[in-house]
Amino acid sequence: MKTTSNASLKPYNTFGIDARAKVLCEVHSIGDLREALALAGSETQMMILGGGSNILFTSDYDGMVILNRIDGISVVDEDEIHVYVRAGGGEPWHGLVRWCVERNYGGMENMSLIPGCVGAGPIQNIGAYGRELKDIFFELDAVHIETGKVRTFSLADCSFGYRESIFKKKYRDQYVIAMVTFRLDKDPVVDTKYGSISDELAKRGIEKPTIRDVSDVVIAIRQSKLPETDVLGNAGSFFKNPEIPADEFEAIRKKYPEARGFPGNGGKIKLYAGWLIEQCGWKGKRVGNTGAHKDQALVLVNYGGATGQEILDLAGRIRESVKKQFGVEMEMEVNLV
Ligand SMILES: Cc1cc2nc3c(=O)[nH]c(=O)nc-3n(C[C@H](O)[C@H](O)[C@H](O)COP(=O)(O)OP(=O)(O)OC[C@H]3O[C@@H](n4cnc5c(N)ncnc54)[C@H](O)[C@@H]3O)c2cc1C
Repeated sequence: MKTTSNASLKPYNTFGIDARAKVLCEVHSIGDLREALALAGSETQMMILGGGSNILFTSDYDGMVILNRIDGISVVDEDEIHVYVRAGGGEPWHGLVRWCVERNYGGMENMSLIPGCVGAGPIQNIGAYGRELKDIFFELDAVHIETGKVRTFSLADCSFGYRESIFKKKYRDQYVIAMVTFRLDKDPVVDTKYGSISDELAKRGIEKPTIRDVSDVVIAIRQSKLPETDVLGNAGSFFKNPEIPADEFEAIRKKYPEARGFPGNGGKIKLYAGWLIEQCGWKGKRVGNTGAHKDQALVLVNYGGATGQEILDLAGRIRESVKKQFGVEMEMEVNLV
């Protein structure tokens, strides 16, 4: 276990915010993690960091930041249809996806190239291109921060929803996800319905795509759409797609016939947050060192040297203008520290 005092967090968050942590501690096993949690008990506060790709540091952190680097990927069980793959919470998510794709274990390929670590995936039930982590989730082992005890959570225990789980609600800041087990298909069926996957496959002349083809195409689409975080600091989508009652959606459609919605929870309609932000004139707009990306308004960027507070201020202005123009409240997807 490695600890550093007064450490810069810049290399550990994809926004590239130069905040500092009083203590930074890197853990490689559940044993290390328990040791770090015991040490953290003497600090005023502690937090877990994976890849730092869904976080905004708005100030220095006066406590211990624990970097989860618990690694390892293995097949732990199989039956006729499924294979069960268990991965350390500190494994890079995309590395796990490619490990499974190479072995033709199906189910993760649409979620290729999502940044971050495996352990953070269940926190917000990551998803992309029509698939969510919950679709392939089997169980996870998490360490209780207060007692150090390991608890296994099943799919039903996690209460997954759209960018939601029990770890963002009832058990917020109570557990560290150490290991996650996924249930994947031995005889994969590809899902190419979402976005431009099928167009891209057609362009490549692929008629019967494998999961590797789908993964390659998703990677290519994502690379063409989103800026690399080491070139332009960002944390992907800053806001969630808001869900509104159907009558409110109809009222918006009367004024903006091009507005698109898709089914959300409990009969609500989910709107594209990026479209709402674009309509308010933010796309490509720069404010000091920050701005809304020129191709995807939902992605707020750090042009270099921005503080977390500057990005938060911009997010506040964007949120207010969407509320004023559409009467829609947008919730942040990024975690604030
Ligand atoms: C360019 C870009 C594109 C993105 N695209 C997508 C996308 O398509 N779909 C999507 O869902 N997300 C996307 N994201 C968001 C992000 O990749 C995911 O939320 C990812 O799961 C975050 O992982 P992380 O390890 O970086 O988490 P971090 O940012 O390190 O942490 C996020 C939160 O989880 C907590 N946490 C982290 N690890 C653990 C753990 N082991 N146990 C308990 N708590 C923990 C942290 O304290 C923090 O509150 C994107 C981000 C970027 C930068």
